[in-house]
Amino acid sequence: MSETTESLDRVMVIAAHPDDPEFGAGGTIIKWAHAGKQITYVLLTSGDKGSKDCNVRPGQLATQREEEQRAAARASGVQEVIFLRHPDGVLDYTLELRRQLTHIVRKHKPQIVMAIDPWRHYQLHPDHRAAGFAALDAVWSAREWHIFGEQLVGEEEPWRVKEIYLFWTDNPDHFEDVTDFVGQRVTALSHHTSQVGTDIQKLDERMRERMKKVGEKYGVEYAEEMKLIKF
Ligand SMILES: [Zn+2]
Repeated sequence: MSETTESLDRVMVIAAHPDDPEFGAGGTIIKWAHAGKQITYVLLTSGDKGSKDCNVRPGQLATQREEEQRAAARASGVQEVIFLRHPDGVLDYTLELRRQLTHIVRKHKPQIVMAIDPWRHYQLHPDHRAAGFAALDAVWSAREWHIFGEQLVGEEEPWRVKEIYLFWTDNPDHFEDVTDFVGQRVTALSHHTSQVGTDIQKLDERMRERMKKVGEKYGVEYAEEMKLIKF
C-alpha cells in the first residue's frame, strides 16, 4: 500500500453480484478494513439467477444471496452493503444506471473505488462487463459539474475519486500482500453457501492455490493483484 493510499479512508466496491467482492479482491478488502478504512459495497444485482437448479425461484434466491452477502461483508469488516436490485444475467448498462451510480458516488464520497475490469479479454459474463463500465463512467461523471448537474443541489458538489482498483484484470500493475488475511477471506467467501457449497476445505485449498500463484510473482506468500488507475 502506498503512503497516499493509507490516508484515503473511504472505499466503495462496485460489483455485479453478491460474491464478486469476495472472489475479486476479498483479501485486500479485509486488509484495508483492518487498517481502519470505511468500506461500502454497492451490488448492482442480487444474483437472483445464480443457480443451476431450474426449480429455484429467482425472488427466493435473491433474498438468500443478499443475506449471504451481508454476512460475508460483516466477516470482512465492511460497514455497509447497498443493493440496487437490477436483474441478474441481463444487467443493462444504461445512462440511468450511470446516473444512479454517479449519485451514490457523490453522496458517499469514496476516495477509492474498486470495480471489475471491463476490458478483460474474452470476459463472457455480460453483467461483469456492464458493471465495470458503469462503475468507471460513474466515477468520471461524479467529478463533472455539468454531468447530471441536477444532482448538484444545495451544498452538493462534484466528487473526485482519487484511486480506482480494477480486479479480474489482464493488466495488473499493483499487488497487495494478503498473507495475514487468507483465512478470513475464505471465511467471508464461505458465507456464500448458494455459490460455494459447504466443502470449506476445498474452497480453502482453491483460494490458497490461487493467491499463492500471484504471491510468487511478487515475492510474498499470498497476494492479490489489480490494475490501479490514479485520477
Ligand atoms: Zn459475478
